[in-house]
Amino acid sequence: MPFDVHVLGTASARPTGTRSVSGSIIKCADGTVVVDAGEGFQERYGAQRKHLKTKAKGVTLKPSDIAVLAFTHGHLDHTWGALPWLQSMDLEHRQQPLLILGPTSSDVIDALLEGTPLPKDAPPAELARQWRAWLELGAQYLAFPVRWVLGDPVNDRWIEMNPSTFTGLLLDEMPQPQGWKKCSLRAVPTTHSVPSCAWMIGQGPTKGAFDRERAKALNLSTDERTQLAKGQDVEMKDGTALTASSFRLSDHAPTSVMISGDTASMAQGFTPELAPTLLVHEATFLEEQQEKAEEHLHSTAKGAVRSAHHLNAGVLALTHYSSRIKSSRSALDEALQDADDLPVVALEDGDRMVVEDDGKVTHLIRNEDGWQQASIAPNR
Ligand SMILES: [Zn+2]
Ligand SMILES: [Zn+2]
Repeated sequence: MPFDVHVLGTASARPTGTRSVSGSIIKCADGTVVVDAGEGFQERYGAQRKHLKTKAKGVTLKPSDIAVLAFTHGHLDHTWGALPWLQSMDLEHRQQPLLILGPTSSDVIDALLEGTPLPKDAPPAELARQWRAWLELGAQYLAFPVRWVLGDPVNDRWIEMNPSTFTGLLLDEMPQPQGWKKCSLRAVPTTHSVPSCAWMIGQGPTKGAFDRERAKALNLSTDERTQLAKGQDVEMKDGTALTASSFRLSDHAPTSVMISGDTASMAQGFTPELAPTLLVHEATFLEEQQEKAEEHLHSTAKGAVRSAHHLNAGVLALTHYSSRIKSSRSALDEALQDADDLPVVALEDGDRMVVEDDGKVTHLIRNEDGWQQASIAPNR
């Protein structure tokens, strides 16, 4: 099943007339992930659902499919819409469990484990602080089950917050959404002014059909065919081994989507092995504000290209533009100067990126009539 990525807000810290703050939805084979939920998230989510219902029949965004809310960091343009949305889902009698994940520091984890006050240098936007406030504002009484999991993505240390005592319990590893089999989530440390991470949603290799012709040519018995089809290797009477994988006609490589959140270019956890099929990366500034990007640990459009090249990303999609960027075309133009053969798109609010199992990526531009498929520059 393809990934269907909905980028609902492409503004940076402040919304503009045409752009809202961050919040993305990724549909995958096992369910739906929400990455960040800035101010007004539920309105944008509702509007996108309505637009799908009336203009893209057959494509749905069901709230009951949402299994995870994953924050890239605690800045309010990424978090401030979460509590009202959680409370609305409660009013709609949501029953499904929700996993909430977010990055913090190891100092905060230690304080939560020991039940001591948060360290003085923990930033105002610290997620532990915000979650505690939300719980006190009513999130404690949500009727559907919620797991509040904070982690230090750099040291891979994760704790579950007890919603009534605000203390933490150390976990062996970052939990995955309940019941997920095909897809998995991964936190990749980024470089920002508060603890931060990118979220990568991956799907394992998909298997093609069983090679009946080859089985026939080798005169295999029904038992042998069944065994191979199940993925078990078979040893023939003459001692030759038949591997199950060699009986699969096409074996699609794993596909994945990475959402960077706010980060300086070449974030600390970005490594070439990650190779996301699609990278949605922030491009807060243009080159003229390179210094500002460095000072505030954000990226320029060219910085996003550097990250994408380093990560071996298949396609780069730009988002999170400062209000100085009037047209996303200027971000795209700068990115293309350095892109070489890397395909790049500049997103607008409500755009979708679809990643097929075979790795093909499509950009769908939201318009009044629904979504229009656009070519990805440079055209391939
Ligand atoms: Zn931001
Ligand atoms: Zn930020």
